[in-house]
Amino acid sequence: MSVIADNLRLLKSQVPETVTLVAVSKTKPVSDILEAYEAGQKVFGENKAQELAAKHESLPKDIQWHMIGHLQRNKVKYIAPFVALIHSVENESLLEEIDKQALKNQRVIDCLLQIHIAREETKFGMDARQAESLLKSPPPNINIRGLMGIATYTDDTEIINSEFAALKALFDKLKPYGRMEILSMGMSGDYKLAIAHGSNMIRVGSAIFGSR
Ligand SMILES: *Cc1c(COP(=O)(O)O)cnc(C)c1O
Repeated sequence: MSVIADNLRLLKSQVPETVTLVAVSKTKPVSDILEAYEAGQKVFGENKAQELAAKHESLPKDIQWHMIGHLQRNKVKYIAPFVALIHSVENESLLEEIDKQALKNQRVIDCLLQIHIAREETKFGMDARQAESLLKSPPPNINIRGLMGIATYTDDTEIINSEFAALKALFDKLKPYGRMEILSMGMSGDYKLAIAHGSNMIRVGSAIFGSR
């Protein structure tokens, strides 16, 4: 009996098939990821470039690796050869570096623009105007596939609801530009609210792998 497989099964029973589940495996050992993989999970998210690269190296090659955390420009090179989706593009200079590394690796890299929706100043992300301007003239080796946001860490569901609603409204407004299909919002504590607000990609860590 695997707790991780049980958690995954429970989660999947609560999430519509149209919603992609990114299993957030940051800080967790390769053995935990393999347990989830053997239970059928193929999409994993990490928040540190070097940890992501090391895990990619030692795990099955049909895993799709998503970068979900704050990414420094000088770390892009570690993940550029293989990363499936970067959720955390928070400014133009990072997007330019990803473009440069994509060209070097002769590929086009799928990215999401991270929008600052939370009340906390500490959270990363761009505002609506920056996102619109990047979408109007994206770099050549980048596919901007959608938006990502992290809600305020709070028990107050009204605050979370209003932040998710704002991100969904921005997503709908920007959808006509390019191939905007992905709305990445929702974590262990708030994925149900996020899905109710139109999320089609959730990033869930502790509800699968236990607390960190
Ligand atoms: C850690 C993390 C998650 C997952 O958080 P849980 O509360 O463990 O589900 C989701 N998104 C981002 C950006 C994270 O850093």
